[in-house]
Amino acid sequence: MDANARFSAVPAVDGARVNSFVFLEKSARHRPDGLALLQGEERITYREFRDRALAIGGNLRAAGCQPGDRVAFCLANSPRIMEVIFGCFAAGLVVVPVNARLHAREMAYIVDNSGAKVLIHGQEYQDGIAANAALFANVQRYCTGTATGAQPFGGLLQPENALPAAVEAAPQDLCWLFYTSGTTGKPKGAMWNHRMVKCVIMNYLADLHNIQPGEMVLHCAPMSHGSGIVALPAVARGAVNAITETASFDVDSLLATVERLKVSHIAFMAPTQIVKVLEDHVPGRHDLSSLKAICYGGAPIHVGQLRQAIATFGPVFVQLYGQGEAPMTITGMSSARHAQLLATDDPRIGSAGQVRTDVEAHCVDQNDNPLPPGKAGEVVARGDVVMPGYWNNPEASTEALRGGWLHTGDIGYFDEEGYLFLLDRAKDMVISGGNNVYPREVEEVIILHPAVANCVVFGIPDDYWGEAVHAVVVPKPGVTLSAEDVIAFCGEYMAGYKKPKAVDFVDELPVSGYGKILRREMREKYWEGHVGRIGGGSAKAQVK
Ligand code: AMP
Repeated sequence: MDANARFSAVPAVDGARVNSFVFLEKSARHRPDGLALLQGEERITYREFRDRALAIGGNLRAAGCQPGDRVAFCLANSPRIMEVIFGCFAAGLVVVPVNARLHAREMAYIVDNSGAKVLIHGQEYQDGIAANAALFANVQRYCTGTATGAQPFGGLLQPENALPAAVEAAPQDLCWLFYTSGTTGKPKGAMWNHRMVKCVIMNYLADLHNIQPGEMVLHCAPMSHGSGIVALPAVARGAVNAITETASFDVDSLLATVERLKVSHIAFMAPTQIVKVLEDHVPGRHDLSSLKAICYGGAPIHVGQLRQAIATFGPVFVQLYGQGEAPMTITGMSSARHAQLLATDDPRIGSAGQVRTDVEAHCVDQNDNPLPPGKAGEVVARGDVVMPGYWNNPEASTEALRGGWLHTGDIGYFDEEGYLFLLDRAKDMVISGGNNVYPREVEEVIILHPAVANCVVFGIPDDYWGEAVHAVVVPKPGVTLSAEDVIAFCGEYMAGYKKPKAVDFVDELPVSGYGKILRREMREKYWEGHVGRIGGGSAKAQVK
């Protein structure tokens, strides 16, 4: 018998139907009594987690949801988030996480845009929902507390409706709509399918941090975003997902929790949270020796701050670069690579690392031609982790995915060894006197000034230059610092056209619900009454 004939007898595995629920199912089988979810006094084992998810899936089906229907949730961090996500997977539903810090009207936009049949929310949103009742008239609501017009969350746990097992799902079946956190414009729903979820999990374990069964993973950032996504590989490996209790980010209680629970992995921190930890922590107060990994990303961290963070907490930082359209998975840098680059004083410590195992990426010019190493252009990526498009938005999907590559809107360049240096979002680049200035380059220098705690740079209108480079600086407490000091300091490191023309001082920088500095919002104030690049130009127009 020839080899081909033998193989043709094997049933085809192409198009295998694998529901992402299998990752929880397996951990429930391997570690049924192992702790899965932990918050305060609440402890849920993997067996209980699976059973609760199957109950939620079954009760959502009993409430009228059919496979493919959307279920939104707007919940402060709690075990309920993971139960709802896996409950939706089990029932073949599409989960729509909403940032718990959004205004009720912003929440309503996402509920409406996604066509969600069900909204699961916390009691704290009741007033906002009541004040905008008409916007929520078409969605069935469940509340984790008590709320008028909503059924209790407990109704979703009735055992008699529980699914016996997860439904079958094909790799291309949608399971998640990730609404972009966009600091301007309406958010768009990046569609995720089961294949993408599998890639997110496998890529995380392969490239970033190999989570082990029983490992203590702490969530202190919104689980509707990065932290909830890191929870997926943690569930797949049967780790403990511990969730901090305070809604606000309190550094001392965070570090006390790390000590008490012997946390080995902080799932996700935005750079602004890392900076806050550096500012507020009391050296030596807590034993942090259990920490092996702190995953960060979602926005640039300045090299000076990263060095300080590693000096304070050790070589535990793990960086990821991605976006909702290619969840957390374009480039990355493991903690070992951070340590190696630091040890040799290699400037690539300031990069976003190298392209992830299962992804292809490079930079392109304004005509989508690939650029050689060292040339700046828009970062494009492709691979199984890239979304098939935006929900109900074919124009934006076609534009973002033209030529089969995801156009990230981020400007950067790769070096000879494939390290990605991100410069900025295309929309944030300043064009001053015809020269491109990347705000991040200027910020990297300002942050080195010993009297500077934080800063942000953007372009403001200028009659002569078109746009002038402008810095907003947060000085360290108790120091005096003038605009001239900052500008002169920049002059020691950079070409004249890149130096800020003016500097404003503030006590703190505004940040989004996901910890991103609201650079565009700050900039817009300076552009009021001017025509031109409010909100920036298109990536295509600006890439040089
Ligand atoms: P989101 O879709 O909300 O996760 O935002 C994705 C955007 O955040 C990316 O397109 C980048 O502009 C930015 N971003 C994500 N990770 C990093 C990183 N490691 N360094 C710099 N910027 C990042």
